[in-house]
Amino acid sequence: MTRGRQGDGPVLPGATVGVLGSGQLGRMFAIAARRMGYRVHTFSPDDDTPTGQVADLEIKASYLDLDAVRNFARGVSVVTFEFENVPAGTAEAAAELAQVRPAGSVLHVTQHRLREKTFLRERGFPVAPFAAVRSYDELMTALAQIGTPAILKTAGWGYDGKGQARVENQSSAAAAWRELATDESILEGFIDFAAEASVVAARGVDGSFVAYPLVANHHVRHILDTTHAPAAWPPGLEQSAHEITRGVLEALGVVGVLCVEFFVTRDGQLLVNELAPRPHNSGHFTFDACVTSQFEQQLRSICGLPLGSTELLRPAAMANLLGDVWASGEPDWAAALAMPDVKLHLYGKAVARPGRKMGHLTALANTADEALRRVLAAREALARR
Ligand code: AMP
Repeated sequence: MTRGRQGDGPVLPGATVGVLGSGQLGRMFAIAARRMGYRVHTFSPDDDTPTGQVADLEIKASYLDLDAVRNFARGVSVVTFEFENVPAGTAEAAAELAQVRPAGSVLHVTQHRLREKTFLRERGFPVAPFAAVRSYDELMTALAQIGTPAILKTAGWGYDGKGQARVENQSSAAAAWRELATDESILEGFIDFAAEASVVAARGVDGSFVAYPLVANHHVRHILDTTHAPAAWPPGLEQSAHEITRGVLEALGVVGVLCVEFFVTRDGQLLVNELAPRPHNSGHFTFDACVTSQFEQQLRSICGLPLGSTELLRPAAMANLLGDVWASGEPDWAAALAMPDVKLHLYGKAVARPGRKMGHLTALANTADEALRRVLAAREALARR
């Protein structure tokens, strides 16, 4: 078996790939990797995880246990991650013994909202107006500069709208500051967007680049609810989104997959909201609907292999299954699967808590509108009455 740090040659089937993190993104990556004849090791502080259930080896240790991280890295040919909030020291320790792709420097920028937005703005990528806020006085100055409504967000460790508070006026600013209880945050102008959209893209070791369609995303309570593709965008919008995305992957020197989330403003401008240096929930439809899934693309890119086609084979829509779907007991799987163009993905999580991502459905159809109708009908059918 191929082990240890490799030279610049590709990591070929039969080798072992390592994943830091053990959630559903790692699970779908592991499924893609095993299908292509790779072995998969996963490392996280948990056991019986979504990734561990389908990996060859599940290592349970703290990300701060750097000896355990080194042991993990020693046993694989390349390390990737499925979760960007891995501490920088963890990625550095892994990099002593294996290629880490994308590099720890990409994590460093994208795991911190303030660094990420500053990086984007300094390089001329379009972002919402924002200011750094490290004290209540700075919040007042930022509010005067940015105006209301605005959103105060913690700088680090935020996802799915966690660590965010809306600011309507000076007095709600005080409440937002207390609620966030952080010493580093970012105040962003509230964007009255027409739509939310995203592009998942991959960049190879040789700088090759591929991007999936600019998809339309609908969020409920800050969590992605549905994605559909293709979406009906004004002419030129998808091309602009692809150009921005390519620029971002190049500026960061990404080898791997990265998703750019956008706001589409009412006058048709794109603003980058967030970067995720890994496959993304809005790319889950690619598993069933594209020539190459985002997870296979992650594998190809981190292994130094040629990237696959991103072509959409059929219009598709994805709907997330949050723990809430379990509110009245085990969902009626057979009812959803009675729709022959609906695909079920479950992540193997034992406890269904409200808001927890437990799985998703993808529907295929002749149009994206029809796919969206089907996927919503399938999700509806899951709820037992
Ligand atoms: P985030 O965790 O920053 O991606 O935010 C989660 C969701 O909150 C986004 O997908 C938007 O629906 C909403 N949101 C975040 N920032 C803004 C903003 N500046 N203006 C309007 N909505 C926002």
